[in-house]
Amino acid sequence: MKTICFSSSLVLSLLFFLSTSVTSAQNFESPAALREFKEPASSEEVLEFTKKVANYYDFLSYQIIGNSVEGKDIIAVKASKPGAENNKLRILLFGQQHGNEQSSKESLLLIIRDINKYQEWLDVADIWIVPQVNPDGADINQRRNAMDLDLNRDHVVLDAPESLAIQRLFQNTLPHVTVDIHEYFPYRESWEEFGGFKNFDVQVGVPTNINVEEQIRSFALNNVLPEIENHLAAKGFSFHNYLVGPVPTEGRTRYSTVDINDGRQSFAIRNTMSFIYEGINGKDGFVEGLERRTIGQYEAIVALLNFLTQNHYDVVELVNESREKLINSQKGNKVTIRMDHFKNSSPLKLPLTSSRTGEDTTVVVKNFHPLVKPIAEVKMPKAYLVPANDSLLLKILQKHNVFYEEAFDLSKNDAYKYFINSIEETEIENFDNIYPQVEKRKVKVQSEDYIIVPIAQLHANFLVLIFEPQSMLGLAQREGFEYLLEEGKAYPVLRLE
Ligand SMILES: [Zn+2]
Repeated sequence: MKTICFSSSLVLSLLFFLSTSVTSAQNFESPAALREFKEPASSEEVLEFTKKVANYYDFLSYQIIGNSVEGKDIIAVKASKPGAENNKLRILLFGQQHGNEQSSKESLLLIIRDINKYQEWLDVADIWIVPQVNPDGADINQRRNAMDLDLNRDHVVLDAPESLAIQRLFQNTLPHVTVDIHEYFPYRESWEEFGGFKNFDVQVGVPTNINVEEQIRSFALNNVLPEIENHLAAKGFSFHNYLVGPVPTEGRTRYSTVDINDGRQSFAIRNTMSFIYEGINGKDGFVEGLERRTIGQYEAIVALLNFLTQNHYDVVELVNESREKLINSQKGNKVTIRMDHFKNSSPLKLPLTSSRTGEDTTVVVKNFHPLVKPIAEVKMPKAYLVPANDSLLLKILQKHNVFYEEAFDLSKNDAYKYFINSIEETEIENFDNIYPQVEKRKVKVQSEDYIIVPIAQLHANFLVLIFEPQSMLGLAQREGFEYLLEEGKAYPVLRLE
């Protein structure tokens, strides 16, 4: 057995070194599939398998995009055929930010296994695949990383090396489309007591923050989701637009969050057509039903890539034009800094599996809030002035590749400072949220005390959302940044108008 393994890998490396055009199919199989999905791939196996396939095909390459807290490599495969057209669609797929959501990684390993079969995708698209963002958590089937951080709540502050790695890859490649792959766990006690569990094989969410270009949100919702649903139905899998909320008797049901600190909305706010996939987890939160879970997610990815590559001109144009708007942002453009979920006229008919009989059933959810509407807006400044000695704020700008300058002329524009009159505690999406009452005053400042962050860049909406003191998604709402908002004091970040 050992000899066979040795000689086949020798042949592979010879082929690699000869580097002739290798396109003939090879029967790769993912580590979990070889074990009939009784055990998911370990982080070591993810690297080994990914490198093996990437080394075999000349249209694949790989790079290590970062290291986990425990020092494990985070690998990205790039699929790109040379000689294809210039204006290619760029797609980033990434999985297992949450280590206990095994099918997110397994489905991407099957995409890597099969990508040779989908040459038509690569005629028009470059695809990056990161099968495992959180190897430390994954190896012990734990949601969080080894710093006990939830990576999918870390995309603003970027404390974890893993979330920073995926944001860096995004900045370096600027994909038009991103897909963040997860699993949801429907079998909580509260649902058992309620009488039924959600049973969708795959839920897919689209951007819901209303600052994301409207056409991107509607294209994803109205053009893409039905395609995924139809493809999954034909393959025998069920689907729903991603729903979040407690049992219907205990609170609101809505379409996920508007916060920009996750792997979907953080990219969407840069006008990316971003998706979140939520496959069903096993009852054991680990491997139960892993084969079906993996294939469900895999088929949902195939459906998405089929449709987007068939419509690549439209998607590239839509995203490029939407990003141009951000890059040309001007003083006075409106940004919604507070928003909430509202009811529409029709209740939700929610299919469930009865927790008593195991049969299909439907409940009518009256407390359904599918619409997101603005509550408060501000106008964009020309730039923000950030205290040059606030290393925490500067570090965030650097991590997000935000453009700023240290030397600038303050004579042509007026600087305004917010004063915090009072602070009100509110609640948004079931989390505490601060709503300060502020007063804006024109001030004279010394340019050497500040750095200047022009609004006219891809991050325009992101900057307004993190810097405005009344923003429900502001930095001041986040752990470690409470110092920004203190009653009776001035807010440290200024507006240049
Ligand atoms: Zn997750």
